Amino acid sequence: MSIVSETLMTFLPAKRKSTPSGWISFNAPCCIHNGTGADNRMRGGLKEEGDTVSYHCFNCGFKASWQPGRNVSYKLKQLLTWLSVPDDVITKLSLEVLKINEGVEVQQRLIDLPTFDEVQLPPESQLIKDDPCNVSDKLTAVKDYMSTRQLWVDQGYNYYWSNSLGYRDRFIIPFYYEGRIVGWTARTVTADKKPKYITESQPGFVFNLDEQRPQKVFCIVVEGPIDAIHIDGVALMRAEINDQQAMLIDRLNREVIVLPDRDATGAGLVEQAIARRWSVSMPEWAPDIKDVNDAVLKYGRLYTLYSIVSAAESSPLKIRLRAKKWYAT
Ligand SMILES: [Zn+2]
Repeated sequence: MSIVSETLMTFLPAKRKSTPSGWISFNAPCCIHNGTGADNRMRGGLKEEGDTVSYHCFNCGFKASWQPGRNVSYKLKQLLTWLSVPDDVITKLSLEVLKINEGVEVQQRLIDLPTFDEVQLPPESQLIKDDPCNVSDKLTAVKDYMSTRQLWVDQGYNYYWSNSLGYRDRFIIPFYYEGRIVGWTARTVTADKKPKYITESQPGFVFNLDEQRPQKVFCIVVEGPIDAIHIDGVALMRAEINDQQAMLIDRLNREVIVLPDRDATGAGLVEQAIARRWSVSMPEWAPDIKDVNDAVLKYGRLYTLYSIVSAAESSPLKIRLRAKKWYAT
């Protein structure tokens, strides 16, 4: 029962009865205020249905109601006054309801998971396969780039390329969410070409969530998609965590380990991770290793993963101490 119906019930006339359809009937207090004779046939009715409480007078036709999320209306205040509810009680009730509504709004914001629209890959995109018959110079350049980053077609991730102008020297990584393509990034394979990335992404998106299988104990959070693919982690697509991304990641219900890049933006990410009560990992890598991809090239995938998980730290104090060293080298 809500505080509104509680207050109403407390001040209803003592003489009342319940009907089979759920109405509580009593002599309506409204009629004399609405130009109708006083009700003495118990034609005022109060009903609670779900979270909604409604008052209806079957004599003068006056109505008032309340449900969570709505404030105490002028009509409801009139009804309360006519039921002889003291003014200070009505004021207190209105304030309480305001407070509850704020709480309801906060909760609704918290449970609103982002949704992502399905999008098209760049024109003429096609899956890159290990097919020696289907070779063009452009595709070869893309495949060469992939091998320098130790990305292989048979790894389990679907990589694309496109022969259309503007994309033909780009390596395309589709973004999946619940099995649908909801974005992509196309990285140039030509050195020094700008822009390095052409990306279509949606707010709140977290890369590689589909691969976070239930049996996993950790979720490793990195900045970029290629790093995420290397270690089966997720990527924020930038060095910031927004609320929707955090919700999607927390929802996995496992230890979250943030692995920041070793640059100025990564340092900002460390504090954001602490604020979210996530762990942070800054492994003992050689000074020239700046991110997961560097580590994979130097140490291999398995050792890289091991070094990340074993360096995970959850104490804010220890994280900050470690960050000083990690970013100093
Ligand atoms: Zn009435």
